[in-house]
Amino acid sequence: MVMGSLPEDVDLAIIGGGVGGYVSAIRASQLGMNVAIVEKNKMGGHCLNYACIPSKTLIHIADIFYEMTHSEKFGIHAEGASIDPKKMLEWRMGVSKKLEQGVEYLCKSNSIEIIKDQGTFISSKAIQLTNGEELDFKKAIIATGSVPRSIPGFDFGSEVMDYKSALMLDRVPKNMVIIGAGYVAVEIGTLYAKFGTKVDILAHSDLLSRFDQDAVSLVKSRLQELGVTIHPNTVPLSHGKDSVRLSDGTELAADAIVSAVGLVPYTQNLGLENTKVSVDGKGFVNVDRSLTTSDPNILAIGDVIGEPMLAHKAIRQGEIAAEVAAGNKDAFDNTVIPAVIFSDPEIAIAGSLEGEGISVKKFPLTALGRGIAIGETRGFIKIAYDSNQMIKGVEMVSTDANAMISEAALAIEMGATLEDVADTIHPHPTFSELMQEVAEAALGRPVHFYYGK
Ligand SMILES: Cc1cc2nc3c(=O)[nH]c(=O)nc-3n(C[C@H](O)[C@H](O)[C@H](O)COP(=O)(O)OP(=O)(O)OC[C@H]3O[C@@H](n4cnc5c(N)ncnc54)[C@H](O)[C@@H]3O)c2cc1C
Repeated sequence: MVMGSLPEDVDLAIIGGGVGGYVSAIRASQLGMNVAIVEKNKMGGHCLNYACIPSKTLIHIADIFYEMTHSEKFGIHAEGASIDPKKMLEWRMGVSKKLEQGVEYLCKSNSIEIIKDQGTFISSKAIQLTNGEELDFKKAIIATGSVPRSIPGFDFGSEVMDYKSALMLDRVPKNMVIIGAGYVAVEIGTLYAKFGTKVDILAHSDLLSRFDQDAVSLVKSRLQELGVTIHPNTVPLSHGKDSVRLSDGTELAADAIVSAVGLVPYTQNLGLENTKVSVDGKGFVNVDRSLTTSDPNILAIGDVIGEPMLAHKAIRQGEIAAEVAAGNKDAFDNTVIPAVIFSDPEIAIAGSLEGEGISVKKFPLTALGRGIAIGETRGFIKIAYDSNQMIKGVEMVSTDANAMISEAALAIEMGATLEDVADTIHPHPTFSELMQEVAEAALGRPVHFYYGK
């Protein structure tokens, strides 16, 4: 904990030290503001301590283990490979600790006061802390994030885990039932299946139902290969200590039950009723384009203001809110917010593939040298463009899609055309060539795939 003398009065008070909050604090401090962050748990928030980073850490470990034990085709035999779950947890917790400490160091170096406490607004100018002190502010930013939603009959506790507990296990479960079929369920299900857990995913409608089914079908077939059973149109009725009963009477064995049915904005005990801040029907804080709430002194960013609930969206909004709080003119007007599902294969999207006057071209991974070399040919890229050949959307289903999607986001933000991308030299042999190949194909001059006459 970074302690110092508590400022009675600050230019900017931020409630929530997650990715949105601490980035906002750093930018505001650079702009000359006197800043305090109130954080009741860990600096870095959910992303660094419980969600994005831990899930990707464990996915990486699961990939190593799975590759090691399934690489006979490359001539690799790794009999006797085993997992030490306690060691794995030690690494996963160590990563979060390192990042949490890094954030504290950055805040301290930028002269930001970290107050480890819960903050509650008592007016549009003051926050009450549980230690009895009061923090007066000129401007405040709400960056309190979200919490996992629970469903009736499956309250979180010793028998039903939320995503945080599922990413903090010191054992590899034999059977895991996951309620929910969004990206969190897919990521957690895939990683445990790669460790050898028998995973059942219960989908209210279907797996990743809001995504392009062309992409989802590849993820589904991979999950099947990994032994995961997807139960579409399924409602869980009740659970015991180690089983889940479904609406059709089926009983599934489960020494781990995970409920991952979504996130809800977190404004509990925030004292919004003591301010002019309003929320919508789902509890999200209402903001305008400058991220200012209906209370002119208070801004809000990140998960608490709505979808998409993604760390990089919170980070960008944190930077903008700091500028606005400092009196600069700014607005959250990004054209695209890329999204990545760390499934197998990964799905990454920037912009949209649909719309009037939009054409779409697809290029398969089977035609890419890099994919063939490393045995990863399951996937494709799709590019959407308008009648002026301006790029409007890209979907990648591929290894390394997480890194490659930034090129697509930049292309869309900058108003790039198919030709801009097609004529840019992409290094060979890499997955990044997918962007160039698909742009060339869309221009009617495909090189490495024959589309027919
Ligand atoms: C399993 C999982 C995996 C994910 N993976 C990714 C991913 O790969 N990429 C991605 O972009 N997004 C991912 N996300 C989403 C991402 O975690 C969130 O979008 C991000 O953390 C939101 O940041 P935030 O700053 O809005 O809030 P948070 O990170 O939730 O931080 C809010 C902070 O506010 C504090 N707080 C709340 N109320 C108070 C109060 N009254 N007083 C003091 N402190 C308070 C909380 O303790 C918390 O630390 C994932 C989510 C989950 C569940």
